[in-house]
Amino acid sequence: MTEENKKLWQSVLSEIELSISKANFNMWFKDTFINKQEEGTIFVGVPNVFVKDWLINKYHKNILKSLRSFGEHIHAVEYLVIKPEGKRELPKENTNESHSELPLQDFYINKEDNLNSKYTFDNFVVGPFNELAYAAAQAIIKRTAIYNPLFIYGGTGHGKTHLVQAVGNHVKNSGQGKKIYYLTSEKFTLDLMNSIQGGTANQFKEKYRRYDLLIVDDIQFFAGKQKTEEEFFHLFNSFYDNNKQIIFSSDKHPNFIVGLEDRLKSRLNSGMIVEIPKPDLESRIQIFKTKSRMLGFSLSAEIIEYLASSVEGNIRELEGVLNSIICQSKLKGRDLTITEIKDLIKNNLKPKKNSSIKEVIKTIAEFYGITEEEIYEKTRKKTVVKPRQVVMYILREDFDVSYPTIGEKLGGKDHTTVMHSCEKIKEDIKTDSSLIRELSQIRSMLT
Ligand code: ADP
Ligand code: MG
Repeated sequence: MTEENKKLWQSVLSEIELSISKANFNMWFKDTFINKQEEGTIFVGVPNVFVKDWLINKYHKNILKSLRSFGEHIHAVEYLVIKPEGKRELPKENTNESHSELPLQDFYINKEDNLNSKYTFDNFVVGPFNELAYAAAQAIIKRTAIYNPLFIYGGTGHGKTHLVQAVGNHVKNSGQGKKIYYLTSEKFTLDLMNSIQGGTANQFKEKYRRYDLLIVDDIQFFAGKQKTEEEFFHLFNSFYDNNKQIIFSSDKHPNFIVGLEDRLKSRLNSGMIVEIPKPDLESRIQIFKTKSRMLGFSLSAEIIEYLASSVEGNIRELEGVLNSIICQSKLKGRDLTITEIKDLIKNNLKPKKNSSIKEVIKTIAEFYGITEEEIYEKTRKKTVVKPRQVVMYILREDFDVSYPTIGEKLGGKDHTTVMHSCEKIKEDIKTDSSLIRELSQIRSMLT
């Protein structure tokens, strides 16, 4: 590819990347390039026919429009199947695609303790909104077990996971030889179910009792799971009685977690409960400053001020906006203007997908060629089981619907059934490339 074509295609890709989901982008635009230009026609090289058809049907207009915005002489696009250099066809069996599909950050996750080393105090901004939670976390680090349990709650993207993992990482690296274990309440439930089914419940208990510091994230998902709560209650007591620290996070105050047993609630209330609310303006400014500095990118005070006052959302959203600004400005080779930044913000803060659960079910049933009713029925027909699992998986992953709610909406299924279905799909994605494609197509129909 000539330098000119390379640049042009990169510009097009970075525009498209902003307008579609990441999964879709990776799926359809990986290994594409400009093969040649001839009299205003751009020939785009694509890795296979499948991608070619998809680009023509779904993205042709966007591609052409974007190309034209960078070169007015361009009036047509053609797609050529050209296998990427140095790549050979993977054998059909055992493609093991999952390894290349893993997001980079997953490589930082330690298998022993589940901690992700990217969450540290060094890169944790402390401001009025989270200083209390920060102080509580520091207290734990300095003198274990004053606040036991520590319970951090707050909305999504407010920094709960970052904070509780930072505690774990700090203790881990402090050389005290403490055994730490981080997990989500969902993982706990799943492990428990598996150990009960596999007849290894005792090993399960033994395993947890070995740890000195236990961190359980997103504990709201325990609600209504009786067996799990009971098991957890005992585990909790054994930690507590042995002066071992437990840290929890949740999206709500324990008293507002519907379905959580009273005795568990009162135990939670016996420690320290701190909220991380939405970041305030001053903190948002600090977050933009720190994050841009960490990324080696400088933003003017005026721009930072503007960003912090117009992006009020959670920290994940702030990061998203910052990343696109950096990306765009690298591409253009200059700082962005306020107008350009305004446009970016508009693109970035996409309204949450507002399809209803019913619409999701309808779309997926249609996609697999079955009726909506079949999804709700109790049948175990293979043709229905998979679409139903996909429905559960999409509702959970993309729409944050809780397991119990999914179960209820799908005709009164047990939440453990839902959980197993979601896990099944998660497992299958690792080896089943056609499933990956199906999910991607379904997702693009839902956005
Ligand atoms: P939650 O668990 O509350 O949903 P996360 O801990 O996953 O939120 O935070 C979302 C993103 O924001 C992560 O990338 C995290 O590193 C970042 N983040 C959260 N709080 C802070 C903070 N105080 N300083 C810097 N980055 C933060
Ligand atoms: Mg979290």
